[in-house]
Parts: sequence; C-alpha cells; structure tokens
Amino acid sequence: MIPVNSNLVFTPENINTSSESAILIILRGQEFLTSKNSEFLIFEEDDLKWSEMEMFNKQFIGYLNDQPCYLLEITPESKLDDDLVLTPLRNLLGRIPDSLFTVCSRSLQLSEWIRNNQFCGVCGTKMKMHETERAMFCECNNVPVYPRISPCIIVLVTKGEELLLAHNKNFPGTFYSTLAGFIEAGESAESAIHREIFEEVKVRVQNIKYFGSQSWPFPSQLMLGYHAEYLEGEITPDGEEIDLADWFHYKDLPNVPTGNISISGQLIESYLEKLNN
Ligand SMILES: [Zn+2]
Repeated sequence: MIPVNSNLVFTPENINTSSESAILIILRGQEFLTSKNSEFLIFEEDDLKWSEMEMFNKQFIGYLNDQPCYLLEITPESKLDDDLVLTPLRNLLGRIPDSLFTVCSRSLQLSEWIRNNQFCGVCGTKMKMHETERAMFCECNNVPVYPRISPCIIVLVTKGEELLLAHNKNFPGTFYSTLAGFIEAGESAESAIHREIFEEVKVRVQNIKYFGSQSWPFPSQLMLGYHAEYLEGEITPDGEEIDLADWFHYKDLPNVPTGNISISGQLIESYLEKLNN
C-alpha cells in the first residue's frame, strides 16, 4: 500500500502511457475501501493477490505522483478482508489531502457515469467505450457521451460586517451555509446567481466577484464560488429549500463549514480574513 501524504500530486488523464506499476483506488457502490481506522487507502496490485474480492470496471483515471492510478470497483457481494471497511467520501472530507479528494471525486463520477450510461438513450443498444477519449458512444449516432458535470453557483452575500447565511431544510441541526443552486440550461452563472438568491431569500445583489471552484461529486456538481454584495430586499426564506436565513455579524457566526471541507467555508474564511485586515 502507498502511504497517504499531502505531497501527492494528481494529474487527471484518460490514457495510460506510463510503464510504471499501477496503483488502485477501490470503490464498492459509492464507498471507498479504507482501513478500519478510516485511513484512506491506495493499493498496489500485489496487495490484492490473495484477496477474495470480486473486481470489475477497472478505469484509468490519471497519475498520482507519476504512478498510473486506476479506479477498481468491487461487487456488492465481495467479502472484505478483515482489516478493511467501506467509507463514503463525505466522511473523508477534510481528512484527506486535496489531491486525494480530486482522485475520489473523479472516481465516483466516472463510476456513476458508466453505471448510468450502459445503453444508448436513442436506440437502446449497449454503449461502447471511446478508444482515445473519456467518452462512450453508440454507433447509431456516434455522439460522444461524456461524464456528466452539473455546474452550480455558490455565493457568499455580504453587507459590510454582516454575512447572509442560510439553513437548508436538509442540513443537520443549526448548521448554516452560503446560498447555492444549479445553473439552468441556457443560463449564465451570473444570471443564476441573481435568480437563485432572489428565489431562495428574496434579496437582490450586486458586484459579483468570482472566487474559485470545487468539484463536489454528490453526485456531479461543479461548484462555482462567488462573492456578492447586498443591494436590496428583506431576507425572506422560500420555505421550500431554505427554512432559515439571516444576517450574521462576522464576530458572531453560527455553525458554518470550514475551508478545508468546502468552498462555502473558503468563501466565508476569505471574507473574514478581509475584514480582519
Ligand atoms: Zn444508439
């Protein structure tokens, strides 16, 4: 097994041209094979020699520190070795380095893509894997089907020393976060920001500034993070998605995500840093 450390560099690729020995990330359903103490595991092929796990869907996903890295899935019936358990990616958030988060994110999305595109949506024939691109196709139309990525906006709205934070109905307890939503077909990121914020809390914003992005594979979001300034309106949660929302002074914030877990936390931390300087 390869030790996990923060010096690992991951480069996504579709075709392996290296002769180095391969390393493996193992997935069962949507959970990763980890050790019993929840350490993330990168396997070498020799590690699996005596294993009774049934494997399928081996996919090259890129290079981890120059070593070709493959995703390998095991069947739901597979018997796990005694020292192994399965861990969902959410439980590994903030506990694995960013490069490994990228590996996991890519693995989950590729596995989901293959599972959901077994047959052509036009004629129902079994799909084929493209030889050079990470795509599938059917001979009936030769239109490549790429892994699906769903862009979303995520926005920290601020008014001087106050931050607009919301509690989503699905969040546990008193956890608050920034506002977010999917970009509709045909819509720009900026229009989605204005629309989503108004839909969710009836507030208008201005001075939108791009901050950065994060892959969020639950199941296929690409979160585009923005800062925005309050323009007008009284906070009124929509009651559908958002049940609570309010202005919070930066010195008196509720439970919010941290920057090592999500871009929402990074947006909040970057704003606090600005206010503190
Ligand atoms: Zn077809």
